[in-house]
Amino acid sequence: MTFDALFNAQIDQLKEDGNYRVFAQLERQTGSFPRAKEYGQAEHGQNSARDVTIWCSNDYLGMGHHPDVIAAMTRTAETCGTGAGGTRNISGNAIHHLALENELADLHGKESALLFTSGYVSNWAALSTLGARLPNAVILSDEGNHASMIEGIRHSKAQKVIWKHNDVADLDAKLAALPANTTKIVAFESVYSMDGDICPMREIIEVAEKHGAMTYLDEVHAVGMYGPRGGGISEREGLADRITLIEGTLGKAYGVVGGYITGSEALCDFIRSFASGFIFTTALPPAVAAAAQTSIAHLKGSSVEREGQQAQVARLRQKLDAAGIPHLMNDSHIIPVMIKDPVKTRQIADMLMEQFGIYVQPINYPTVPKGTERLRFTPGPCHTDTDIDHLVSALKTLWQQCAIAHAVA
Ligand SMILES: *Cc1c(COP(=O)(O)O)cnc(C)c1O
Repeated sequence: MTFDALFNAQIDQLKEDGNYRVFAQLERQTGSFPRAKEYGQAEHGQNSARDVTIWCSNDYLGMGHHPDVIAAMTRTAETCGTGAGGTRNISGNAIHHLALENELADLHGKESALLFTSGYVSNWAALSTLGARLPNAVILSDEGNHASMIEGIRHSKAQKVIWKHNDVADLDAKLAALPANTTKIVAFESVYSMDGDICPMREIIEVAEKHGAMTYLDEVHAVGMYGPRGGGISEREGLADRITLIEGTLGKAYGVVGGYITGSEALCDFIRSFASGFIFTTALPPAVAAAAQTSIAHLKGSSVEREGQQAQVARLRQKLDAAGIPHLMNDSHIIPVMIKDPVKTRQIADMLMEQFGIYVQPINYPTVPKGTERLRFTPGPCHTDTDIDHLVSALKTLWQQCAIAHAVA
């Protein structure tokens, strides 16, 4: 008895729709990021590695290659070993876990923080625990929220109300319609990673406060990059103290891996005590915690990386405009170039790699809605002006070859 026919039927459908995902084989190299070695796919009969420039990394500031971060990780692995050896319950708190939690609580100006093995797990665990345990919980979720939040809400079995993306009037109306005896939780993000748009945070908080709702904010695509110390949009806007729970990742701008929540001592103790996604999984390796703490501390004190990123983002936008390449305008570091067709998006990404040594992963359904397929560029402080010129001239060439409308965005 084989079940492969069942699996293949669905895989074949994905391929037919142009939504089948192929992962590039890449090896990043210390010291040369955003350059990496690409190993050609076997189906192309290539074996040799060649240099490519990465244009879609979430290691936005190159911190995954920072010498101090690497030193913290290797030093701690040498002194404390590799794995944590169990859950926090079994193995105890390493001093590195506690030091990192203090660093995170300070980053967001909160009493406490709690670590998870990824940002995905932190959203999933925190939202599912809040929704399941708070009396008559209703979670009001922005329709653009990340899969990790959606899955956490689903798992909580709490009532879910979806409000229109970044639409404060809609949120207001939906909060007003709820009975007084409900515990209302407004869940949203600061920077939405696919369109790069930023939420109207002050207005959302004001509406939530008006209705006595708690606020749950995902700052995953903002921590390290916004605010004078990298505390995200909530720090930049001076609003962190009005948010009930701030969630973030250690895997993107901080260049390591892991996730966290911050909030009051009672809130973090509650999640620590009841969240299955915290309790029943091995803690982060102490070396990972030490590396993340070093990265956060560095970005609290240094703005060079943030300024370099903003300069290169502005430069790429300006060069794309000059070349007539349409891109979504937003106030963040994310530059989506809209292709609006899954097959063309993949073709252009393949040609960028094969002809120009440029790596950008096509963004297709279900990450974005069908018909909004795109290439998503994330310039950073490590991209040179020459890198940007090379990218724009490659896009210009392909635009002409592929006859993509110049005014699609
Ligand atoms: C990537 C992402 C996460 C998950 O973070 P990981 O640390 O990668 O698991 C959560 N929320 C948003 C908005 C994300 O883009």
